[in-house]
Amino acid sequence: MPPSQASERILQKPYSFSMQECGWREPRRALSTKRPGGPDKHKDRVGWNNHFERSIALCYDNYDFISPMEEDSRSQSWKAYDITFYNQENARLTKEIINSESHTISIALECMVYGNFKEEFKKMDIEKKKNLILEGLYRGCCLAPCENSRDLCPEMTVEGLIGDGEYNFPNLLKKLIDHDPTNHAGNLYLFEHPYIEHELRHTEAAPAELKAFLYMKILLRTYVIVAVLFETLQAHLGNAPTPITPLRPMGNTKEQKKTTQKLKEQQKKSNFHTDRSQTKEEFAQMVASCYTCYRIQERKTLKRCSKCNLVWYCSSACQATDWPQHKKTCGKKSFDPKMFAPMPANHSAQFIGCPDVVPGFVRTPALKRQIWYLSKPDSQERDYHFNVAPTRTRSLIVHPPRQITFLVARRRAMASGSVTAVHKMYTILRSQNHELYGITLDQIRGQFELEYGLKITPDTLRSADEWAPPTAQELEEEEDYLQQRHASARADYYRRR
Ligand SMILES: [Zn+2]
Ligand SMILES: [Zn+2]
Repeated sequence: MPPSQASERILQKPYSFSMQECGWREPRRALSTKRPGGPDKHKDRVGWNNHFERSIALCYDNYDFISPMEEDSRSQSWKAYDITFYNQENARLTKEIINSESHTISIALECMVYGNFKEEFKKMDIEKKKNLILEGLYRGCCLAPCENSRDLCPEMTVEGLIGDGEYNFPNLLKKLIDHDPTNHAGNLYLFEHPYIEHELRHTEAAPAELKAFLYMKILLRTYVIVAVLFETLQAHLGNAPTPITPLRPMGNTKEQKKTTQKLKEQQKKSNFHTDRSQTKEEFAQMVASCYTCYRIQERKTLKRCSKCNLVWYCSSACQATDWPQHKKTCGKKSFDPKMFAPMPANHSAQFIGCPDVVPGFVRTPALKRQIWYLSKPDSQERDYHFNVAPTRTRSLIVHPPRQITFLVARRRAMASGSVTAVHKMYTILRSQNHELYGITLDQIRGQFELEYGLKITPDTLRSADEWAPPTAQELEEEEDYLQQRHASARADYYRRR
C-alpha cells in the first residue's frame, strides 16, 4: 500500500486500542511524562526493559490529548525543524523501512511457511518466550539503533508480545507478511498508531511541518517495530545480531542546531525533558555515510546536496543516481506522503519478470517469498528458487531454448496462478532432470504445490495440456527482461571485482 493510502486509512480508522490487550500490568500512576536515567541497557536488560515499559505506561495510560497546535511546550517539538528537513527525513526513513521490511518478510516467510514458527512459539515455555523477546527488543532497539523511538510503540512490551492478543509477536509478523511486498503499487507497510492517528485526524488544517512531523513519528515507530521483529526472529534462529540498515540522521545544519538548543531550553523550563545522551553518541557516527551507497566515510570527505544541504554523497556518481528520487523532496515546502514512494522506474528493474497480479488471484506467502527472492539484485540471473532445507535455498537456471517458455509460464503462473502454467514449468524442469543441480523433482513439486495452492499428480499432468504458446508480446517482453537481467548481473560482477 502506498504511504498516501496508508495514511488515509489511518485517518479513517476508529479510535480504539486496548492497553490491556498489549499486556499492561503496570499500575496507573500519577501523571508524569518524565523519564529519569535508567539502568545500563548492555548490562541489565531486564532492568532496562522494565524502565522503558514503565515510561511508556506512564505516557499512554494517562494519555491526555494535547493538540500539537496548542501553545503548549509539550507538543511543540514539531517546530524544531523546517518542512524540507522533515520531508528529507521521511524520504530517508521510507527508503530504510522498505529495505528492512523486505528482509524481515523474507525470513518471517521462511519461518512461518517452511518452518512451523507459530506453533513452536506457542509451545515454548514462558521463560524462554520472555528471554527471546527481551533479546529481540534489546537488539532491535539498542543495536539498530532506534531506542528513543521505542516511546512511540506501546505494543512493544514483553508481556504484550508473548501474550495472545492481536499485537503479539506472531500476529505482528503476520500483519507484515499479509502485506504484499511484491505489490507494484508500493511496498511500504506502516504500523498504525492510535494516538498519532488521533492527532492526525485533528490536524487537517495544520501547517505542512506538523503533518510531516506526525508522519515521521509513524515512520519511526514502524522502523522500531520492524527492527525488533527482525532481530527476534534472528535470535530465534540462533543467528548473531545483524542489525538491519542502521538509522542515520542527516547532518545538522547550524540553524537546526540553534532551534534544537532553543527547544531544549524551553523544555527544561517547562519541566519536560528527554534523555538525549544516547542519541548524541549515535549521532557522531551516523552522519558519515553516503545516502546512495551507504559507504561510510569521514564526514568531511562527503559532498552535500547544495540545494537543500540535507543529503550527503560520496561522489557525483552517487548523487546523480539518487537525483531522480531526491528531486521529489529536495527543497519542497509542502507535504504529501506520496512523494516518498519509491520510483516506479527502479521498481520495474527490481522486480524483473514479475507481472502485476490479476485481480481476484491472491498470492500465497510462499509465492510472495519466491517473488521477493527473484527480485533481489544478486539473484537476477536465476530463474527459480527452491527451498531444500528449512533455511536453505537453491537456485536454478533453465537453459535455452526452453528458458523463454519457462519464463512465460512463470509470469503466467505468478500473475494468475494458472494451473496449466504451473504444470508447464514443472514439465520443463522434469525434462531437464540432469541439470537440476541436486534439487529433486519431489522438492520442485512440493514447492509449486505450496506456492500455487494446487496438487500436481500424474492425472493433473495429463489434464493440463491446454498450454497456449507464448504470444509475440510475451516473448518480446521476456526477451527484454532477460537482456536486462544479464546486463544487471554483468554490472554486479564488475562491481564486485
Ligand atoms: Zn555513494
Ligand atoms: Zn537536495
